[in-house]
Amino acid sequence: MTAWQRRAKHCPLCGAALVRGPVEGRDRTRCGACAFVLFENPASAAAAVVLDARRHVLLIRRAIEPYRGQWALPAGYQEIDETLERAAVREVREETGVEIEVVALLDLFFVPEDLRKPANVAVFLCRPVGGVLTAGEDALEAAWFDLEALPEDLGFENGPRILDRLRARPT
Ligand SMILES: [Zn+2]
Repeated sequence: MTAWQRRAKHCPLCGAALVRGPVEGRDRTRCGACAFVLFENPASAAAAVVLDARRHVLLIRRAIEPYRGQWALPAGYQEIDETLERAAVREVREETGVEIEVVALLDLFFVPEDLRKPANVAVFLCRPVGGVLTAGEDALEAAWFDLEALPEDLGFENGPRILDRLRARPT
């Protein structure tokens, strides 16, 4: 449950007090007066594995928690009005200045333990098509790394796993 959901005391539709009780098989927060139910769902996020023609991968050094100061794949939450592919393109642009196009879906995994909210993360294989490498918001640095010479301090559990798998894959 997110912080605002824990703090929410009143129904957003009718203003009556929210109560906790069984709805469709599990305890949920619902309105005591109208039919409103606060269904909780995981967030959706996109991560980008941007590989150039030399098989170098684009990483950022994170400016924010979790894993502040460590290297990671560019990634972020999906906005309400965009596809996951568009989220990947936007996050890479915001964090690195690089323009990309999505090539394929590489992986899809569930992260139950996030600081903010559990999330489904779609990982896209991408390639650069333009832009200028510049560390943007949420990034201390952005840089290209040879797949065979990745930085030691790679944050998150899934990033290293994905890059390992990619390294084992023929070009
Ligand atoms: Zn209500």
